[in-house]
Amino acid sequence: MFTSLKGRTAIVTGSSKGIGRGIALRFGLVGCNLLLVSRKLDEAATVAAEIVALGGTARAFAADVTRQSDMQAMAQVALDSFGAIDILCANAGIFPAAKLGAMTEADFDSVIGTNLKGTFLSVSACLPAMKAQRFGRIILTSSITGPVTGFPGWSHYGASKAGQLGFMRTAAIELAPYGITVNAVLPGTVATEGLADVSEDYIRNVAASIPMHRVGSVTDIANAALFFASEEAAYITGQSLVIDGGQILPESPAALA
Ligand code: NAP
Repeated sequence: MFTSLKGRTAIVTGSSKGIGRGIALRFGLVGCNLLLVSRKLDEAATVAAEIVALGGTARAFAADVTRQSDMQAMAQVALDSFGAIDILCANAGIFPAAKLGAMTEADFDSVIGTNLKGTFLSVSACLPAMKAQRFGRIILTSSITGPVTGFPGWSHYGASKAGQLGFMRTAAIELAPYGITVNAVLPGTVATEGLADVSEDYIRNVAASIPMHRVGSVTDIANAALFFASEEAAYITGQSLVIDGGQILPESPAALA
């Protein structure tokens, strides 16, 4: 049903684990050339090796999305390795909790720096290649937290995730003439390594509050990213898609009783 993405080159930031790893494996399965990016090279290299073992094409690159020079080097490595940058999944993100009153300026800057500025820097680095090709698919990993919901401890995180959508809407207008689309996936709760510190009770409680009675899988999110990357999504830009099993829907716990 969908046109093959075989041979397209995709950069996935934050792909050494969690949702990014899920996106990379999914894109690898359909034959994309992948550049896996995270600060720790060995962990990204492990995922690249998994993809290669499954018959895909992947290499790893160590880079910090908060550093412009790293992002420019990332784009160059993708071009040198695969000759194009067709798809960017700007997925790297952090979510340390800190309630207002305890949250420091450094806490705030760190979350905004990685999640929001990191989005800007990774997108900017890929634009020259995408503009020259007159083709590009940019997929941001935002969240329900911020754009739709709130959660104590995550005011900085929610601001960064809502900020990504503000960035996306203007970027989508500016880049449309070049055949570049910019869209966002908004996951609900997904049990990744990044949530390893929260208790099993927390995950069980969240699952109970979701109409589908389970938290999301990384593949749930990867499938939506794959759709935005497809040829068939060419006329969709500046849009966000919630993937949460209905997590944002109940007005109160009574809705699930
Ligand atoms: P995760 O398991 O903690 O993985 C985060 C990834 O980002 C790792 O590969 C990490 O590798 C990388 N990363 C972090 N900071 C980076 C930096 N400065 N530069 C480059 N890479 C960096 O997180 P996750 O749960 O998969 O979350 C991925 C994305 O989904 C985030 O944007 C998050 O906000 C979003 N999200 C997650 C959930 C959820 O429930 N899990 C829900 C909604 C949205 P290194 O540490 O080696 O750099």
